Amino acid sequence: MFFQKDIETMPRKQLEELQLERLKWTVDYCYKNVPFYTKKLDEAGVTPDSIKSLEDIKRIPPTTKADLRDNYPFGLFAKPMKEIVRIHASSGTTGKPTVVGYTKHDLDIWSDCMARICMAAGATSEDIVQISFGYGMFTGALGLHYGLEKIGATVIPNSSGNTEKALMYMRDFGTTALVATPSYALYMCETAKSLEYPMSDYSRLRLGLFGSEGCTPEMRTQIESGWGLFATDNYGMSELMGPGVSGECRERNGLHFNEDFFLPEIVDPDTLEARDEGEYGELLVTTLTKEGIPLLRYRTRDITKITYEPCKCGRTHARMEKVQGRSDDMLKIRGVNIFPSQIESVLIAIDQVSPHYQLVVRREGFADTLEVQVELVDSSLLDSYGKIQQLQKDIAKKIQTVLGIQCKISIVEHGTIERFVGKAKRVIDLRNVK
Ligand SMILES: [Zn+2]
Repeated sequence: MFFQKDIETMPRKQLEELQLERLKWTVDYCYKNVPFYTKKLDEAGVTPDSIKSLEDIKRIPPTTKADLRDNYPFGLFAKPMKEIVRIHASSGTTGKPTVVGYTKHDLDIWSDCMARICMAAGATSEDIVQISFGYGMFTGALGLHYGLEKIGATVIPNSSGNTEKALMYMRDFGTTALVATPSYALYMCETAKSLEYPMSDYSRLRLGLFGSEGCTPEMRTQIESGWGLFATDNYGMSELMGPGVSGECRERNGLHFNEDFFLPEIVDPDTLEARDEGEYGELLVTTLTKEGIPLLRYRTRDITKITYEPCKCGRTHARMEKVQGRSDDMLKIRGVNIFPSQIESVLIAIDQVSPHYQLVVRREGFADTLEVQVELVDSSLLDSYGKIQQLQKDIAKKIQTVLGIQCKISIVEHGTIERFVGKAKRVIDLRNVK
């Protein structure tokens, strides 16, 4: 199903012409309205009228999250505050948050982007959708909210937090679709199973619109079988707009970019040189219509790859693979690059442990050590020392086979590892902690 079929299936040549026209507009707009970009473009010797093709984007220096922080709060805004109608901010895990502003036009486009993604995932005006993202400064909830209203779905803005109440709404209101992070969807399912109501009370739930954190195929299978729904993934980040940058269609063979609004590139995270189609690298995104806070070649730090092959669904817009990890989350342990998602894949394939886990990295002497804390599904196993020891050995061996590193496995009781409503914090890096 399509929200804007003409655009979503536009022939690529025409789409690229539209992108070029909008890229020229964006570079000119940044140059004239954001002193940060005037300086940056001048230093790189790029004048707006020297952008003649999409290839010319490579001459523009990238923008980083640090640039947003250095210009906190409104330094990169291209419009005066009287034209900004909404502000969001991303949670600052270190230092100041990054702040973004939207004009009315930006909000319209945001809801169009979301409407496309929700319909591509299979949502319709018949759906009753529960939004279990936290409302507030985080872009996730309001992004989905307006997109779903735009397609005529019924939105339940229950937010996150009180899981039992969310489950009550789900049963009583006949919720058909759920918006949440994958880990929270799994936690909700666990909680539902622990209550006195049969799972058949949730049988109208048929669609999951998940995002905001990674989800391995194994975790997706668990969510789907637990809830009996069809899970889809969508992608975005507050700096670029929020969710709505890309999303899966029913083929689930990559996430379609909204390419008329966002121009993606894949580059080597170290050298920033372009990678070929189908090669993994860091995703850079240039906004093509944004007025509040336009960004040129924003470094997402997300590692993925892109294909421009046509999709069976009929959409012509490029598809990115699910994010493999973050270039700055990538853990380097004793010289080996690992992503938490790789460990997650190993854990999910082991029946006795739950998909909730935490990685603790330490430095002992000059060597890095990795501890993987995993939770048992059935805590009674803890009574048998022999069985626990065997399980620890098995997991350590599997991780060594897949990742080529040794690690210590700590097995904990079910429910011990903290559940996260937003992005799960999987890695505790203590290497620089004295
Ligand atoms: Zn498709």
